[in-house]
Amino acid sequence: MKLTLSKISTGARLGVISSLGRNGAQTLEVPGCLLYTKTGSPPHLTHDTLQTIDGVPSVTHITLSTLVEHQEVIEEYKEGIGKFAGMPDAILYCSLHDPVTPCPAGYNTNKVVSLWGTGGRLEMTPQKFVSAQRVLRADWFQCLSDGEVTPGGNSKKRIKKSVDRSLAFLDQCLQLLAKHEELKHCAVIGAVEGGEQLDERLRSARETAKRPVGGFLLDGFHGSSMDRDTKLSLISAVTDALPEDKPRLIHGMGRPDEVLDCVQKGVDLFDSCFPYQVTERGCALVFNHCYHLDPETTVVEKNEPSDGERNGDEREELDADDSEMTSFEICLKEKRFQEDFRPLIEGCACFSCRRHTRAYIHHLLTVKELLAGILLMIHNFQHYFNFFSSIRSALREGKLDVLAGIIRKQAS
Ligand SMILES: [Zn+2]
Repeated sequence: MKLTLSKISTGARLGVISSLGRNGAQTLEVPGCLLYTKTGSPPHLTHDTLQTIDGVPSVTHITLSTLVEHQEVIEEYKEGIGKFAGMPDAILYCSLHDPVTPCPAGYNTNKVVSLWGTGGRLEMTPQKFVSAQRVLRADWFQCLSDGEVTPGGNSKKRIKKSVDRSLAFLDQCLQLLAKHEELKHCAVIGAVEGGEQLDERLRSARETAKRPVGGFLLDGFHGSSMDRDTKLSLISAVTDALPEDKPRLIHGMGRPDEVLDCVQKGVDLFDSCFPYQVTERGCALVFNHCYHLDPETTVVEKNEPSDGERNGDEREELDADDSEMTSFEICLKEKRFQEDFRPLIEGCACFSCRRHTRAYIHHLLTVKELLAGILLMIHNFQHYFNFFSSIRSALREGKLDVLAGIIRKQAS
């Protein structure tokens, strides 16, 4: 893969990753996102329903933690996870963990990294890791790394150990990979660790960059153990220390305001588990990312009433999940949508908005009909992919600050 940057403006990078796929003809624009999947399939969607969505990213994100449990079956199939999952032409990026699944701390050692699949904990050594990659045949993969985040932060000693171990795992994996001809075309994504320690982050970035990796994953920034300013100053310091010509990925930073923060600090690629999480709580993305409008009139819709305004019945209806709800979405489970015959967003071109109303989706959620997840996933994916397209056009037109202002105004 080859990254060509066409513009760098106040830290943000506009460009294209080319020479992707078996024939090298596919491309991926940055800043951009990857297509999030669960065990190799986009959640709630079939191949056909996925086709109704515009702007689907050309790189599909699979996770080793969910697939390694099926390694024997995929090995017997002999043609890799892409073809096995019905995506023979997909370009695949394999991360170690599912960004949506929490990884308990305290289970990594000098020899193994713990992955958490549906059946519990799995211990991954460099040998097992390389053998799994031979079976899966992803085009890019995150290298084995010790990226544990302890709630409340890690000690300085633990952080240093995490950087040392991750570099040792990287060296061992690169050595093993070199023995397998079929893995030589794969891009290894090196993980930059270092927790909250600036010196360790810089050491991890510089040392990883000395190895023959195809790109970098800024690991350990998800979750709430670090405040926003600390995260951003660390991300900025790390991207400054990395070579310009290789992509930088990040996981679990998917809220629109977080995405823009990271883009402005030189991050190129994101996962798309955020629209999936929004779908799972019965919500629809309604935030505005149109930077051509007057910023004073940009908020599409005033969000849900505050708890104080809601009546008792409604409060009871809301699940515990709703504590995670952001100001970028509306919750279709709320009673106020019972007779709301508008689409999720007026003028949205997605299949769900063209054919269905908020009232219908509210009804589907109330009766726990599976179609609710499908319709919300279609809309949320399309809205999110369009958001990335807006980021690129705003950057191209020199209006990224305007877009960032509009997004931050909607954050709370
Ligand atoms: Zn829509």
